[in-house]
Amino acid sequence: MKRKLVLAIDQGTTNTKVLLIDDKGGVAARASRPLSIHFPQPGWVEQDAGVLWRSVAEAIDECLAQAAGAELAAVGVSNQRESVVAWDRKTGEAAAPCIVWQCRRSAAFCDDLRRRGLEPMLIERTGLGIDPLFSASKLRWLLDNIPGGQKRAEAGDLCLGTVDSWVLWNLTGGRVHACDATNASRTQLLNLRRLDWDDELLGVFQVPRQALPEIRPSSGTAGEWAGVPIAGLIGDSHAALFGHAAFEPGSVKATYGTGSSLMTLTGQPAFSSHGLSTTIAWWQGPAATYALEGNIFMTGGAVQWLGEFLRLADPASGAAALALEAPGAGGVYLVPAFAGLGAPYWDSTARGLISGLTRGTTAAQVARATLESIAYQVRDVFEAMRQDVSVDLPELLADGGASRNDSLMQFQADILGRPVVRNLSADLSAIGAAWLAGLAVGLWKSAGELRALPRPEDRFEPRMNQTERDARCAGWREAVARARLHGAAGEP
Ligand code: ADP
Repeated sequence: MKRKLVLAIDQGTTNTKVLLIDDKGGVAARASRPLSIHFPQPGWVEQDAGVLWRSVAEAIDECLAQAAGAELAAVGVSNQRESVVAWDRKTGEAAAPCIVWQCRRSAAFCDDLRRRGLEPMLIERTGLGIDPLFSASKLRWLLDNIPGGQKRAEAGDLCLGTVDSWVLWNLTGGRVHACDATNASRTQLLNLRRLDWDDELLGVFQVPRQALPEIRPSSGTAGEWAGVPIAGLIGDSHAALFGHAAFEPGSVKATYGTGSSLMTLTGQPAFSSHGLSTTIAWWQGPAATYALEGNIFMTGGAVQWLGEFLRLADPASGAAALALEAPGAGGVYLVPAFAGLGAPYWDSTARGLISGLTRGTTAAQVARATLESIAYQVRDVFEAMRQDVSVDLPELLADGGASRNDSLMQFQADILGRPVVRNLSADLSAIGAAWLAGLAVGLWKSAGELRALPRPEDRFEPRMNQTERDARCAGWREAVARARLHGAAGEP
């Protein structure tokens, strides 16, 4: 019998990856397509929605060409979250660029929501504070700026959606307009408890229900592609948590990409007193599982920035190599608040700074401080989680591009005072989506079976003593306070 394979699509911000995952959890084939990103104005971030879909279609073709005759059991999709697409229901053509999660174009609208005192209600219903990151204000912008947008949406002629829904629509040839609950939970239109669009919130953002996708479980057949059930849909960060086999409360994962997302399962919805979001981890089986999440805007991206600033030929790896030349940061702190600070501070007016410079400071020490800023920011969110949940958080699960850096992982363990368990797969989100799809079609029978699949992991133990840890964290807190003062002082 031919082995059953899951076609896993990971539609990310910088590229689209497609993998074939076999029933032992191994990668049987892979293909990817890079994606360009556009910055038409300061703070605006867009992608071409048509190009985005074609990157998926091309990567599927290339991946399948490597496995002629493969028998597919299911398709699973993980995707960049919060980004939004609008398209014409009849033609399937995108009506505007994809507004990417990083885009701040709806900042003024968000300020207005805050002034109207809506934040407590929004947090209570959606688990999310007010920020241009979340989809709803982006959808509002689209409806205001697509010619006749509001009317077309109200008439049902315009479809609005998250990236999973755009991919699903195209995979099914325009037959299905649906998104999964995790993607819905990042829109700020979902009523977290009822798992349905919230009519009052739809009123606040004036988004017509008929334009929105139907909400589906993360694991379950949502449609068909080439006769194969599309049985897994999930946001990439949630997929990574699932791919770590972190199925029980008490696990925390951090994805180290351009920015970072930390997530910990809570079972039932738990609300944070420390700047974290409440979200749906996944909807698998009869009920949704909830999580607390902290988003950090700039982590690995700061390493890239420093490399570019220093005009290094290969910015990210060059800056990481430079950091290795310094045993420590020599009292230097870099706070990469380039676009403000996300969790747990949520301070959009903070700006980046480098503190503690002396005449003897070297470029290597600044590079080291840049790397360390990733670990300090992750610690800030980890500590917020520890205070919000009542279970112990004994270790941190790590994944993502910047987690390849051993010295960062060691410093992370040191500054947390807890072990860091790194998953060495570069495909964790795709694997998480494949697992959810495979569970839905019976390729795997249970979470236990998934947990038993081989996972390439290694481990970093903390080596720093508490006195040193406390001193360094105090220095970091002071640097963050200064970065926030910039906002308090206002622009010159
Ligand atoms: P994303 O999914 O957000 O595009 P990736 O998971 O691919 O990100 O990780 C890329 C990020 O990792 C970039 O921001 C880059 O600067 C950073 N990075 C790459 N190599 C290193 C390294 N050796 N040390 C630290 N950060 C790195």
